[in-house]
Amino acid sequence: MSTARSLHDLSFPELEEELAQSGVKKVHARLLWRALHYEASRFRENLDGFPPPLARWLNQYLGDGRAFFLDQPEQVAESRSSDGLTRKYLLRLRDGRTIETVLMGYDRRFTACVSTQVGCAMGCVFCATGQMGFTRHLRPGEIIAQVLHVQRILRAEYGKNLRNLVLMGMGEPLHNYDAVMKALSTIADVRGPSLAQDRITISTVGLVPAILRLAEEKSPYNLAISLHGATEEQRRSLIPISKKWPIESLIDACRTYEQALGKRIFIEWTLIAGKNDSPEVAGQLASLLQGINVHINLIPLNPTDAYEGTASAHQAGLVFQRILRGAGYPVTFRQRRGIDVAAGCGQLRSTKTTVP
Ligand code: SAH
Ligand code: SF4
Repeated sequence: MSTARSLHDLSFPELEEELAQSGVKKVHARLLWRALHYEASRFRENLDGFPPPLARWLNQYLGDGRAFFLDQPEQVAESRSSDGLTRKYLLRLRDGRTIETVLMGYDRRFTACVSTQVGCAMGCVFCATGQMGFTRHLRPGEIIAQVLHVQRILRAEYGKNLRNLVLMGMGEPLHNYDAVMKALSTIADVRGPSLAQDRITISTVGLVPAILRLAEEKSPYNLAISLHGATEEQRRSLIPISKKWPIESLIDACRTYEQALGKRIFIEWTLIAGKNDSPEVAGQLASLLQGINVHINLIPLNPTDAYEGTASAHQAGLVFQRILRGAGYPVTFRQRRGIDVAAGCGQLRSTKTTVP
């Protein structure tokens, strides 16, 4: 088995160390780091401008059959929403697996939505990724490469930089905690992609120990909890993994997190007709979240093949929102504008892989 490693997997100190071990001065690490993370698409052209020791190091260690490779997944499909505001890319990794990355642009502000795993082990019944099951974790370099991919498109087409990043693509970020945190510190590095930490949002289905770890480690990123149910029974019927962490323990973890970091938590709520969209459920949700600083996002369900549920009627969503607002919560309706490109996570891959 190949022991080659990705240069994109290395942190800055690790890169310095690799160079130093082969006698290349640490000062050159900065140049290489920038080439890897800022102008990744022009990496080959930049090689000519590198100081000789660095160029020699790359010639010796980078490439097929050598110690290092670059994470540059190939784009195998793209779909655009009819309003042109959402684009979804299917990217092929080195082992042939595919993942989805989404680029959304509203008011010329661009948000990337990246994947953290191939598939997902959490099995949420309404989610196309959950329906695929779990294949493997992504490495940090594979997470970073998705940001670089959309960044390159943005710069070329709009002369703009990425503004926001959400970890809401395929996979459960907190199930792949270390790789995700390593990737995010590179993505937020001012010498690299340089995304502001407070414009990065980790979305989780509710892995309680990992939420507590975020609190303990004083995570600088935003946190979104995919709640979808206000009672144990409601949650369990949608999110099988929630059996492991009862809803009270999840809410306790949210309180701990909010108190430790003094930051508002985003609550994601996928509205499913007849399942979690009644005025009664809205009332239960309002009581459940009492005293926690939250912002609630309501998202109509994107239908998937393997789940019979449908999106809530518009009116039901409005009533749900009104009740929560009445209880004092900020509530936003997130229209899934990309619905015509199957923008629910995992849906592009499902359609592509079922086509022979
Ligand atoms: N695993 C993480 C992040 C990826 S899923 C999590 O669950 O939070 C990102 C968001 O998309 C979650 O809020 C999830 O509940 C939601 N989602 C998944 N499938 C959906 C669908 N078919 N329709 C609407 N939202 C969906
Ligand atoms: Fe995994 Fe999130 Fe999909 Fe649930 S909603 S299966 S946690 S990706």
